[in-house]
Amino acid sequence: MRRKLVAGNWKMHGLIAALPEIEAIAQAAAVTPGVDAALCVPATLIAPAVTVAARMPIGGQDCHAADQGAHTGCISAAMLREAGAALTIVGHSERRADQGETDADVKGKAEAARRHGLNAILCVGETLDQRDAGQAEAVVTAQLTDSMPDGAAADWLSIAYEPVWAIGTGRTPTEADVAAMHGAIRAKLAELLGGETAAAMRVLYGGSVNGANAALLLGCADVDGALVGGASLTAEKFVPIIEAAAGL
Ligand code: PEP
Repeated sequence: MRRKLVAGNWKMHGLIAALPEIEAIAQAAAVTPGVDAALCVPATLIAPAVTVAARMPIGGQDCHAADQGAHTGCISAAMLREAGAALTIVGHSERRADQGETDADVKGKAEAARRHGLNAILCVGETLDQRDAGQAEAVVTAQLTDSMPDGAAADWLSIAYEPVWAIGTGRTPTEADVAAMHGAIRAKLAELLGGETAAAMRVLYGGSVNGANAALLLGCADVDGALVGGASLTAEKFVPIIEAAAGL
């Protein structure tokens, strides 16, 4: 039985003034049994967030594949860990698009996270053109294959299926489409990692999840939680998603 995980992705949002929201989210998560909640915040907020987050894990949104070096502006997994992070997102579509990250880069980043004791959420997802061309499943399973880290295991790695066209747009796939893609991802995981690992690994859905659609989307077959952007920025919007996941 996979326990649901609801992770927030604050992207490039959040100053110190946002700490009360993090505290409120953490307090609500602490009294909502049966679900794991986490918040991936900007690197500058990790250490302060940890001080108000009680037991809720705080994460980063990216890490470099290398442990250190001449990579101006980048952050290493060891730095995230030292700041207090327990996890990090890798391969978010915004980084794949904006920073040109390849599957090989994402694989290296996930392996760096693991080396430094961080859990990782590895994102995959197709563009609208790819979906319209009937290539969604092929694209996503290829991303999964090529970005899968060595040593992948369910106790530190989760997958997030995030159709690019659903991120921040208010559009979501149908329940049938979500279930079909998550089924395909689970089958590919079994091929890559063996049935036992595939059965234990959490596969999250991400893309315009909110309090109104969370129960439906998270209730789809093979969906083990959500990666949430915009609706994770306030306790008022994020807590209902955590509660919806707990009720499933
Ligand atoms: C995301 O950033 O991963 C995301 C899913 O964003 P949103 O929930 O805003 O669509």
